Amino acid sequence: MEKPLYMDNCYLKEFEATVESVKDDKYVILDKTAFYPLGGGVAYDIGVLLRGDEEFPVVYVGKFDDKISHEISKPGLKAGDTIIGIINWERRYKLMKLHTTAHLLASIFHNKSNALITGGKIEPDKARMDFSMENFDRHRIDDYCKLANDLIKKNAHVKVSYMEREKALKIPDMVKLANKMPPDVDTLRIVEIEGIDRQADGGCHVNSLNEIGTVEIVKVENKGKNNRRIYYYVQG
Ligand SMILES: [Zn+2]
Repeated sequence: MEKPLYMDNCYLKEFEATVESVKDDKYVILDKTAFYPLGGGVAYDIGVLLRGDEEFPVVYVGKFDDKISHEISKPGLKAGDTIIGIINWERRYKLMKLHTTAHLLASIFHNKSNALITGGKIEPDKARMDFSMENFDRHRIDDYCKLANDLIKKNAHVKVSYMEREKALKIPDMVKLANKMPPDVDTLRIVEIEGIDRQADGGCHVNSLNEIGTVEIVKVENKGKNNRRIYYYVQG
C-alpha cells in the first residue's frame, strides 16, 4: 500500500479507492485510504465506505502486517469494488485538535521542567498525557496550560515535512517520547509547530494552532516522580 492519504493531507474527508481484499466479510483492505488506524496513542477513525448508494459503516480501523484494515459492520463488499470512503469528520477533527495540543503541552512541559513524556492516550472525549517530573505542583501545571493558551492565540502554523532519519535524530529533542522511538524507516515524517516544537510523528494535526480553541486541564494525577498524569480537553 502507498503512504496513507492523511499523511500529506490531514483534511481529506472523502476519497475514492478500490477494495483489495475482504477477510471474514468484515476486514477490508483498500488500495489507498485516508482512515487513520489506532496507533501512536491516538484513537482510530470511523466513517463509511460507499459502493454506489450502499453504505458500509467503518466501526474500527487498525494496522495489521503493515496494512490498514477497515472493520465494517455490514457484509457484502468484494475485492475489486470501487468505493468512496468518508471519514467521520467531527470525531477526526477533535482528535486532530487534541493531538496537536498534546505536542504543544509536551513541548512546554519539556522546555520548562525537563519533563520526559512517558505516554499518552487520545480519544475524542478524553485525552491524557503521562510524564516524569521532579517537582510537581498543580499551580505549575496551570501555568503551563495558560502558556499553551497564549501560544494558541499567537496561532503558529503547523507544518508537515520529511527528513532523513539519521539527520532528524541528531536534532535535540526531536523524539520526546521516552520509550517510543520512531519505527525503523529511512525517512521520518516531521510535524513542526513553527517556532515551538518539532517531532517525528505519523499522525493527523490541525494546520494552525488557533483551530484548537482553548485547552483546559480537567484532572491531575500524581502517582510518584515518574508517573504524573494530566487529563486535558479542548473547547471551541
Ligand atoms: Zn504525535
